[in-house]
Amino acid sequence: MRSYKLIAPAKINLSLEIIGDRPDGYHELVMILQSIDLADEIEIHSISDETIRVHCNHPQVPTDKSNLVYRAAELMATKFPQALAKYGGVDITLNKHIPVAAGLAGGSTNAAAVLVGIDLLWNLGLTQTEIEELGSILGSDIPFCVAGGTVIATGRGEQLSPLPTLDHIYIVLGKYRSLEVSTAWAYKTYRQEYGSTYLRDTNDLASRAAAVHSAPVVKAILAKDAVAIAKTMHNDLEKVVLPSYPQVLQLKEVFASQPGVIGTMMSGSGPSVFALCASQSQAEQIQQQVRQIIPNEDLELFVTRTITHGIQVAGK
Ligand code: ATP
Repeated sequence: MRSYKLIAPAKINLSLEIIGDRPDGYHELVMILQSIDLADEIEIHSISDETIRVHCNHPQVPTDKSNLVYRAAELMATKFPQALAKYGGVDITLNKHIPVAAGLAGGSTNAAAVLVGIDLLWNLGLTQTEIEELGSILGSDIPFCVAGGTVIATGRGEQLSPLPTLDHIYIVLGKYRSLEVSTAWAYKTYRQEYGSTYLRDTNDLASRAAAVHSAPVVKAILAKDAVAIAKTMHNDLEKVVLPSYPQVLQLKEVFASQPGVIGTMMSGSGPSVFALCASQSQAEQIQQQVRQIIPNEDLELFVTRTITHGIQVAGK
């Protein structure tokens, strides 16, 4: 029996701008995506019967067809039926560390890992671009998760242009376990409240230039200036999520008030909030301070850091 172990890192958004409507019903986005070392572990084994089995240690994560890893394996089986017949099906075990429904692309990075793992298990020899194209069929964040790093993502979020990588910026990240924000709700509410400001023709350059908030972040990344990155970060969805979720707003304010925090923002559609910190030791101190200020067991706090890669093969 063949098997692989993979590490699937989460992402945060250093920017998220909604600049228009798209004919396919999605929004035209400009996002700066950053991999962090908070990661899930995934084991994938070949099995003799041509089926897909999923196991997971997290009670909130389904193991049926609604799990993105199931759908990733199913896509590979449909695209490569001869390999399925030759090597058999797959048994996938998810060991979750990334908070679920958090705006950290947890499901997407798991799916990216399964695409990479099945490519190896079935000796397909796919290129990174081919794996990313398969990922984009399943979800907009999956292509980024394959190679990770620091990337500007446009379109639905699937068109990727790499930026210089940002290693070792330390982060404190918080998420209330029981709090979930529906991504669909956040985008729908944003459209209702701010849709009149969108540009309608999203194919022209003017609309890309409309990404006024991301440009200074890119400039700061090019200069490798963590303080400037922290000061220019932007997330349009904060405008709808923070007023509706006071706990998220409070967490952001508490982070912002801590010495050593150089900037703080919600990731994706939330409810995770992260703070960029001046050093690892400060990040650890801030984690302890915030734990004392908000002594709520429901709040998970992590010290993590920016990394330069996406899915990694950890062993056979
Ligand atoms: P994104 O940042 O891409 O919007 P997210 O981090 O907000 O994603 P996920 O952790 O991917 O959200 O979970 C969203 C929902 O998807 C959960 O409610 C969960 O039930 C379901 N789900 C399906 N597959 C997975 C998976 N492999 N890991 C976590 N959740 C999954």
